[in-house]
Amino acid sequence: MIYRQLFSLDTSRVQAHLRILQTTDLHLHLMPYDYFTDLPAPGIGLGRTAGLIRACRRQAPNCLLFDNGDFLQGNPLSDWIAQDSGFGPGDLHPMIAAMNALGYDGGTLGNHEFNYGLDFLERAIARAGFPIVSANITRGAARDPATDPTFIAPWAVLTREITAADGQRYPLRIGIIGFAPPQLADWDRHHLEGRVGTHDIVHAAQAHLPALRAAGADLVVALCHSGIGEEHHAPGMENAAVPLAALPGIDVVLAGHTHGLFPGPGFDGADRAGPAVDPAGGTLHGKPAVMAGQFGSHLGVVDLLLDRQGDAWVPVAHATRLARVDDAATDCDPTVRATAQAAHDAVLARIRKPVGQTPVPLHNHFALIAPDLTLQILADAQRAHAIVALAGTDSADLPLLSAVAPFRVGGRGSPAQYIDIPAGPLLMRHVAEFYPFPNLVSIVAVSGAGLSDWLERAAGQFLQIAPGVTDQPLIDPEFPCYNFDVMDGLTYEIDPTQPARHLADGRLSDPQAQRVRDIRWQGRPVAADQMFAVVTNGYRAGGGGFFEAVRQAPVLHQSQVSVRELVVAHFARGDNTAHDARPVWRFASHPGTAAWVDIGPGARACLPAPAGLVRIGPGAEGLDRYSLRF
Ligand code: MN
Ligand code: MG
Repeated sequence: MIYRQLFSLDTSRVQAHLRILQTTDLHLHLMPYDYFTDLPAPGIGLGRTAGLIRACRRQAPNCLLFDNGDFLQGNPLSDWIAQDSGFGPGDLHPMIAAMNALGYDGGTLGNHEFNYGLDFLERAIARAGFPIVSANITRGAARDPATDPTFIAPWAVLTREITAADGQRYPLRIGIIGFAPPQLADWDRHHLEGRVGTHDIVHAAQAHLPALRAAGADLVVALCHSGIGEEHHAPGMENAAVPLAALPGIDVVLAGHTHGLFPGPGFDGADRAGPAVDPAGGTLHGKPAVMAGQFGSHLGVVDLLLDRQGDAWVPVAHATRLARVDDAATDCDPTVRATAQAAHDAVLARIRKPVGQTPVPLHNHFALIAPDLTLQILADAQRAHAIVALAGTDSADLPLLSAVAPFRVGGRGSPAQYIDIPAGPLLMRHVAEFYPFPNLVSIVAVSGAGLSDWLERAAGQFLQIAPGVTDQPLIDPEFPCYNFDVMDGLTYEIDPTQPARHLADGRLSDPQAQRVRDIRWQGRPVAADQMFAVVTNGYRAGGGGFFEAVRQAPVLHQSQVSVRELVVAHFARGDNTAHDARPVWRFASHPGTAAWVDIGPGARACLPAPAGLVRIGPGAEGLDRYSLRF
């Protein structure tokens, strides 16, 4: 048996091998298929992970399978089910059907579970044949983590019989407790306000763990839809897996949310390695931990050696690893295929539907370093909607701006993923490339001072560069691309030689810092007290991405229309006639200064490149490296 290779057993004692398997951030990837490119994607999909699950189970009769959340949203299939399929009360969601069929033992909710609203979520999880737990999401406002009613059960104790090394069967009680980033209450504020609240992850754990242990759990597995971030606890932190692991009462941490890989050389946080985080040994504070990437690309495997002590089991040794889907193979698990086939076929028909035409190729390879036509199309689509929405209101006369950010611009885990659409027919799948999220449209009122802070936060995308230096990186890899808001309707200059006002996680670093200058509206400088209406998405309007200036901004209008529907309408009207992007923003000029940026190989065919940009050689992860002169 596999455990004899992993552990040295004490044959004088009763000991048993328990294997725990993790999927996380599946984002409704059932079939190994990419609905954005309309091509097979053998490296992803629960239909591929299922092969790993079955192989791992064959090696280990005592095996449990958990999911870490973000399973209901994330691709055109999820949108079709939630918004177009007529999914109603009592219906069986294909993802839940697949998880039931694969015999999941437990799960938790991720932040994206809330994207389609509470009614949809509650319908979907009602049919789960396994407990789904979350300890830090409350039903109603969050006041006290110890006494607030939780949205779903905070924890569960699973009772199983396991076979020990002596061949005898023994009972095992496994506690599971779930957590999600508390920011989700802001990120889906229009769905959740007044209905669902959140607590800090560590505070909720401290409030609920005593009852869970008292319920007789031999060991407790934290289903932590939160990443491996800072070592020290800060209330409300988004990525709290490390301080969570430090708590007594937690034995195993299954982490997620950041779509990273842990353990292993692929762990993108070597700077945090130390006693708290051991990417080689696969532990957080000495406790076994895994994070299995995204979309079913990997399966987390935690092997435990349990020692029988009285009536209880105590974990005495562990080994953790990630198994990767073999992307040289293409088979799809028949169980998963059976649950997904009908929805898959419906989505294929949908994504191939024509919605309009584009006179020029549409791509966003340079969206992080120059004004971009795809962002302008988004901005125009939002603006057209906002004009109608505000007509006849007190806000109709406010100057109207449109805030947009790029989503598919390479980045962690998907270096070659960009918008790349040839001239000619525009299909539904292209719209999904433009806007992969089901965000609704919001309009907020912001002052000139607020706009300045909004843009300073967005300009945190750039690392501070040194004048006169020519070999230095420009983009902060920790900064999510979807927080690089471009404010269409203004013109402004960004100077990355100046320090950033905010840290990558949004905290204020230097209130005096100013990188964004010469902010103008209709050619005139914007005054600090001048008021604007800004159309954006509900995620940003709720303060998502730690845009404090936006979070505090009054909402002028909350639409029930998704940004993506606006893009469809924009294309259908034929409003996308522009060939070039308007010069919304520019970098400050610094002769003799340059910095490098890595861009996908598809950019080579996208000419002309922005002024001052030259390809200089290979970059990281199969990308090309470009030098940009300032
Ligand atoms: Mn996710
Ligand atoms: Mg998440």
